[in-house]
Amino acid sequence: MFDDASNCVTWYVFVADGMLYSERLCMRVLVVEDNEELAQLLAQRLETAGYETDVLTTAAEAQAAVTTTRYAAMVLDLGLPDDDGLSVLREIRQHEDPLPVLVLTARGGLQDRVSGLRSGADDYLVKPFAFEELLARLEALLRRPGQLLGRSLQIANLAFDTEGRQALIDDKSANETTVLELLMRRKDRVVAKRLVEDQIFGSSRDVASNAVEVSIHRLRKQLSGRGAKVQIHTIRGVGYLMSEEKDLSP
Ligand code: CA
Repeated sequence: MFDDASNCVTWYVFVADGMLYSERLCMRVLVVEDNEELAQLLAQRLETAGYETDVLTTAAEAQAAVTTTRYAAMVLDLGLPDDDGLSVLREIRQHEDPLPVLVLTARGGLQDRVSGLRSGADDYLVKPFAFEELLARLEALLRRPGQLLGRSLQIANLAFDTEGRQALIDDKSANETTVLELLMRRKDRVVAKRLVEDQIFGSSRDVASNAVEVSIHRLRKQLSGRGAKVQIHTIRGVGYLMSEEKDLSP
């Protein structure tokens, strides 16, 4: 079931009619870079590091790809032949897509860095760069919950007010938990168990080995008890994923 060679996992869902559905969830990284030599090198190095990659060379292609494919992260060059990479970024953020974006550019000026970050970049790397640094920054982005979703997170009838730190189910108040926020921010994406652990216990590692399972179990009970139409899937050996509840009745 688990493909340890890459950051991918295939999970299977059996439903009542005996059908087997499977979904493959990968740490797939989109590389948008018009310098073909650099793009191929990046793809090679990322694949060696265990990611799957798609390489695109124009802003228009990137725009289209992010609407159809769920990427774990994007490495985005700014000087693209058809448009500025920043316009791709703004478009993504306008749709409240929390996709982590690492901007890669030859423009190293302070003003450029600031406008990149203001446009919604999560991080910024100036060329020339060491690949090890890119990898380290990418890993940091993937560990961090999305910061850019705005005040309110919503999945089905479950909402989370990130400023008031309150969860609402059908507009009625529910117990706030940081794990809930974390899972909601990464809707439909796997949240590594380690990240959930960090979120609950901070850096203290002196915790029971099943503490995360217990928390998740409690959260599931709370949510279903209050009629939230969401599911927390356990991706064994990897982590958890929250999605809208699928109505599987015929
Ligand atoms: Ca370029």
